[in-house]
Amino acid sequence: MDDKQNGFRLRIVQAIEQLQAVADSSQAAAQPVELDQTRVGRLSRMDALQGQAMAKASEGRRQAQIKALQQALGRIDQGEFGSCLRCGEPIGHARLEANLAVTLCIDCAATDESNAAF
Ligand SMILES: [Zn+2]
Repeated sequence: MDDKQNGFRLRIVQAIEQLQAVADSSQAAAQPVELDQTRVGRLSRMDALQGQAMAKASEGRRQAQIKALQQALGRIDQGEFGSCLRCGEPIGHARLEANLAVTLCIDCAATDESNAAF
């Protein structure tokens, strides 16, 4: 493994740790609304439910991101990191810098809407 791959590995590990720290700190926000005794009235209950739904949605995104980053770690270990999963061509450096979990080169991503986010 060369220095560049080591650098990526470190950044991916740090990104996962950061996401997990945020996930831990936001778990309180995802607690059942019924347990929240500080809120009273219909409006604040609706606010609480809405906040809970938003917390769950962002938690889902966070878990998907953590999973994608863990898969990127696996690709580093297999020496496949930085190569497009579909065509095998190197993924552009700027594209990798923007998203370490990216799996497709810009050309393949353009033809695959479902993977465009990654
Ligand atoms: Zn490709």
